[in-house]
Amino acid sequence: MSDFELMAELLLPNIKHTPEYYENLYPARNLLEGAAVTRIAPSPTGYLHLGVLFMALTNRIMADSTGGIMYTRIEDTDKKREVVGGTEDIVNGLHNFGIDMDEGFTYEGVKGEYGPYRQSDRAEIYQTYVKELIKKGLAYPCFCTAEELEAVRTEQEKNKIRTGYHGEWAKHRNITVDEAKALIDEGKPYVIRLKSGGSEERRITFTDGIKGKIEMPENDEDFVLLKSDGIPTYHFAHAVDDHLMHTTHVIRGDEWISSTPKHLELFKILGFKAPKYAHVAPIMKMDEGGKRKISKRKDPEAAVRYFIEEGFPPEAVIEYLMTIASSEFEQWRRANKTESYKKFPFNLKKMSLSGALFDGVKLLDVSRNIISLKSAAEVTEKITDWAKQFDTDFYEKLSRDAEFTGKVFAIDRDVPKPRKDLAKWSDAKEYSAYFFNETYIPCYEPLPGNIDASLAADLLKEYITVYDPADEQSEWFEKIKGICPKFDLAPDMKTYKASPEAFKGHPGEVSTIIRLAVTGRVNTPDLCGIMKALGKDEALKRINDAIAFYSK
Ligand code: GLU
Repeated sequence: MSDFELMAELLLPNIKHTPEYYENLYPARNLLEGAAVTRIAPSPTGYLHLGVLFMALTNRIMADSTGGIMYTRIEDTDKKREVVGGTEDIVNGLHNFGIDMDEGFTYEGVKGEYGPYRQSDRAEIYQTYVKELIKKGLAYPCFCTAEELEAVRTEQEKNKIRTGYHGEWAKHRNITVDEAKALIDEGKPYVIRLKSGGSEERRITFTDGIKGKIEMPENDEDFVLLKSDGIPTYHFAHAVDDHLMHTTHVIRGDEWISSTPKHLELFKILGFKAPKYAHVAPIMKMDEGGKRKISKRKDPEAAVRYFIEEGFPPEAVIEYLMTIASSEFEQWRRANKTESYKKFPFNLKKMSLSGALFDGVKLLDVSRNIISLKSAAEVTEKITDWAKQFDTDFYEKLSRDAEFTGKVFAIDRDVPKPRKDLAKWSDAKEYSAYFFNETYIPCYEPLPGNIDASLAADLLKEYITVYDPADEQSEWFEKIKGICPKFDLAPDMKTYKASPEAFKGHPGEVSTIIRLAVTGRVNTPDLCGIMKALGKDEALKRINDAIAFYSK
């Protein structure tokens, strides 16, 4: 046995497999040429972050647009940061946004032939590959303590040398088996480091799917592959997992660009074909005149939960994120109004290089459009579901009389040009306030045009004589028009405009007075529909209250 082989046996005596074993266990995938295998590899460290949702969406459309597949791998190598239920939160959260995985951790449980899909269950696999590297003299144990590493760093800083464990600063690079054995016998903890063959003087280039050609110095750091507990670092796990799971495209946050030379070195020495990398810029926010990364600490919208609590339909959030994901999406959408976003021909090259700004106003707009196209039944159901979770008072009102609630949200729905009053389900509370006695606030002003209180009272009295709750929109409006001549009001806008002084009002003004009386507002959806929903008794009561107010 060579010294390197002896070292490998000393450090990892229990590892019996060789890499070939795993290469055979996880053969190439049976996919068509060009089909992308993508993945997200989140850490279960808490709630679903907007960045993870965005990354999942990007990976999903990349897989879909090439006829490929996407899987979820859980990167739980940092046990200190792990949160109970973190994995489920991510998978279920994505499912609520219509993003489901083909493999790995999915909404229907863990599935696939390339698992385990949780890194903490893969220790033996990583150790097998590390053992092979040690055997070849490409990895070695390092017994430096945190204090020693800190002392090296201070020394480097003092001498203006690039900090890190590289070259002559890599203290244990040439450690012998005997030295290692002695330290292990003393009970000293150690990590396994790469023996880097790179040089800072040389450059490597790679083509990033989003950012194009990138040139950087080679890695020359003997970075850690396995931590002292035998669990890999992100770098090593990434190389082994994405190789064995046959990932074709690693689409990940651009904070990983600076580590890519490390990863490319690993792929090379392990004899793996490197995946295509695409580094996605983070979603940004404007803050005090400057652009900054959206922050878990400062921004409520960093947590996907925020959008659910506010009552944005998940499909609206996705539609909005698609506009961030591709500069070509909106144009495509205009030409493909009813098509699923999944049909969009996604191209990584059209992603933002510097990070798209999160635009809350645009999200509201997108959402308003999406809600306007929904059926009355769906809107009613979604509002009720939302209220049940997030607003119990409102839910109590909505569930008191489901038929009535259905009528309220059916007004101006399922029509060719639906109104866009609701941008999120939470808006429904204010939108529908006047339908419920507890939240209806009478308000009889301002009266339109030249109409004074006594004329308003007379108009309402006259209206009561013709009001029939059975009237549909056109009859309803004919009756309003019919009232006008009796009060020397023009029956149509045109005459009124031509000679304003001759008339005191027009049908629009009469309906405004009725609208004020019935809703306390000057702008509402279809008033005939509102009165129908309220019912004859309530509508008449409110009109009579208004008459009393104007007659005072
Ligand atoms: N766990 C890594 C992260 O959350 C995954 C990066 C990757 O996609 O490779 O940043």
